[in-house]
Amino acid sequence: MPASAIGPALLRRLAQVTEQSLQPVAIPVLKALKLELHRVGKLVKVDSSAASSILGRAPSLCLVILKLVAFATRLPAPAEDGDARLTAKRSLANGAELLLNWLVAKLGASGGNRGLAGPASVRALLRSQALEAAARQAAGAAKRIQDAQPLRQALLTDCEECLDLALFVVGHASINVAPNDAEGITEFAAALAVSSILEHSARLTLVLSSAKAARVALPAHRALTALRSERCCLAYLYCGLVLDCAATVTPAAAAHLRAVLGGPCTRHIVMVEGLAALRELEGGPPPGAPPAGHSPAKKQQLISLLQALFPALDPAHPGPALKPLAAARLLLRAALAAVTSDGGPAADGGSGARSDGPCWVAKRLPDLVCRALALRPWRGPRLAVAADVWRLAAALLGQEQVMGRDLERGSVAASLNLLMVEVGVPLWAANEGRGLWRLPAEAPVEVLAAVTGGALPLLERLLRRAGEAPGGPEHDVLAELQSAEAPPSAWRWDNLLPILVYSTPLQAAAFVATATKLLRRASAQALLLRHSDPATISVELTADLLGAWMEYGHEAPHEGIVSAPARARLAQLLTLALPQWLPQLSRLVQEAAALDEAAWGAEQHGQRQPGPQEPELLLQALYSLTEDVFAAYALVSLDPCPAPGMQGAAHTAGHGGGACNLEAGVVPLLGSVLRLVQRGQPSPEEWPQLYYFTAAWAVRLARTRTAAVRALSNDSPAMAWRPEAMRAVAEALRPTERYRSLVQALDGRAAQLEAWAGGKEAGARPGLHVNFMPPAATWLEFWKPPAEAQRCPVLTACDNPACASLAGDSEAGLRLRQCGRCGRASYCCRECQTAHWRAGHREACGGSVDGA
Ligand SMILES: [Zn+2]
Ligand SMILES: [Zn+2]
Repeated sequence: MPASAIGPALLRRLAQVTEQSLQPVAIPVLKALKLELHRVGKLVKVDSSAASSILGRAPSLCLVILKLVAFATRLPAPAEDGDARLTAKRSLANGAELLLNWLVAKLGASGGNRGLAGPASVRALLRSQALEAAARQAAGAAKRIQDAQPLRQALLTDCEECLDLALFVVGHASINVAPNDAEGITEFAAALAVSSILEHSARLTLVLSSAKAARVALPAHRALTALRSERCCLAYLYCGLVLDCAATVTPAAAAHLRAVLGGPCTRHIVMVEGLAALRELEGGPPPGAPPAGHSPAKKQQLISLLQALFPALDPAHPGPALKPLAAARLLLRAALAAVTSDGGPAADGGSGARSDGPCWVAKRLPDLVCRALALRPWRGPRLAVAADVWRLAAALLGQEQVMGRDLERGSVAASLNLLMVEVGVPLWAANEGRGLWRLPAEAPVEVLAAVTGGALPLLERLLRRAGEAPGGPEHDVLAELQSAEAPPSAWRWDNLLPILVYSTPLQAAAFVATATKLLRRASAQALLLRHSDPATISVELTADLLGAWMEYGHEAPHEGIVSAPARARLAQLLTLALPQWLPQLSRLVQEAAALDEAAWGAEQHGQRQPGPQEPELLLQALYSLTEDVFAAYALVSLDPCPAPGMQGAAHTAGHGGGACNLEAGVVPLLGSVLRLVQRGQPSPEEWPQLYYFTAAWAVRLARTRTAAVRALSNDSPAMAWRPEAMRAVAEALRPTERYRSLVQALDGRAAQLEAWAGGKEAGARPGLHVNFMPPAATWLEFWKPPAEAQRCPVLTACDNPACASLAGDSEAGLRLRQCGRCGRASYCCRECQTAHWRAGHREACGGSVDGA
């Protein structure tokens, strides 16, 4: 029979068993009709066009099917010894329910909303008072089962059919009520609450399962009962979802839905099913086994059950609930399971559909973060909650599908910001007004939670992915983080410092290396134009951290707020970071100064160049960065030069050679800064540290780097190693008594520069040995010279000093290939190897692996 002819034929036969005539119809007729409905349902299930075709020819068919379902829900509750006719009628209704389900699913999927499929069928069911009738039946059935002595199988089966029907009505209604239909939702919510159908059904499910377990052990039926309780959970989940659509739900409807979600029996069922799903998802495959534990459809089903747990654990709903700690831990476990057990590509290979678990969780992340925060102080098991929040954030941010959507990015960024503030604020509060964290021997709990939860790898991955794809979702998250400016939750990169200090050395080293690679990509132009590209973000990050370190140099050693172990870790970090960051930051300062010089020159000639919007503000940031870079350089200058023979070895073992090479980098940097000073750019009153460092470095370098300084003094005006500039600095410092000897030395250098400019050799003056003032000097005891640090390398890096590869999630996970000739140099890629070979490894390589 063609599909188009099925509808009318079915309608004719069903017309014989309308609501009025259903009573006298013989059992075999009912059974035959049920079989036919079932057969048509199967046809509809495999063939989408059949659904439209059948309904198109017989639009009233849907109405008749609905009537059948509604009628069956109004049948009396099953009697103790069962009733064959009752069972047959119910079973016919089950066939109708099945067909209706498939019709609605197919018509919904094809975008149509024909006849009574969808919201219209919900209205029809509500008007038939099917919910109330089904609730009464479920209540009656539960009572009979409890009273029945002994329990008969027929009664059991009949009760299950009754329950199935009741839950179908709830499920059908909750799935098909349109999300923007405020009136429909209110009507549905009121009917649900008034009838207590979910609660009655849940109670019947509980009674059935316990009755079976106690008296009739039938394994085959256990699966059936599980199916019923799943339906109960899903209906519960839908109620929770409807409640989430706050824009649509009226206060009355919300109150009704809360009453439904607060029922003790439904909560019980949801907890039982949700926890079972959690165990199953967390179980995973045994080690070594292939990872295909569940089919995607099965996983999606398990995740749906987990999702139902969320409203059940929500303290906002009335009724018995778990204690906040237990609820939060369960929720976080459930969320993590939903995120990490993503369904993957569909097994049928067709749609490639994935479970919606991760995105669903991403929307709830802010709520989960708030719950964890509400559990402070984080001690004992509460600490695990805080670590789990971080773990969840780390897992979520690794999910492409979460990062690929707009909505979740914002909430993920907001949550991350909140968590980072949490790391920083309690430590700040311990030093009110001081601007420093307390760094005890053991990590403070907030930091410990972040470290255990993988905060540092999370941020490193975020930076790398953003660096690989500027404008991509990870970059958006970073940009949103940076833009958080409200005081209580303002984003501060120096909140990272405690996390860096207490992380494993490998993680910290990897983070430092990733920041370095981004720095190599940064440009002064982007910096001055305030682009928020990932490379520029890395400049802010490193500058903030440098600033924080230098602050510690000022205060920490005297205040006793940095414990010895934390101090050692800080020293290790500094040793790793400074030789890599300083040359890059110094390059950026010089480039920015050159741009400023060009803009200034253009202005002198009356040309206005398109420049930064707020040049003054940006220059202030530049001065601040320069101060920190100078201070940090002062630190590395304390490292004695390696012996000439070590130069090569140091070069192959790591980056940048010794501190001596670093100090050489200050010569051109200082030239740029002197030019700024000469033009009277930074005000001496506002930037005393900048002037101090400029003077101290000028005096020192004129002694230690005489040749380089002399070469630059003859260079262009932009490289302002010029007497006028020296004198400008000296004048600014002259009123300050403690700088007296420094100013004298500076005058001497200025005279020397003048002599050079006149082509004369200046007389050999005894050079002033500069002992840097705080903050740099107080770092002395923290500082570990690079040569020493290189003896305990924690991370093997690509030996190409210009390497900016951001492949992979972490620098620690990079696979390096060694130089085939010497076996001592390692590279991340062929390009890096070629570049390094041309840049000098050709000379340094020196022989074969065998010969070494
Ligand atoms: Zn490389
Ligand atoms: Zn080599």
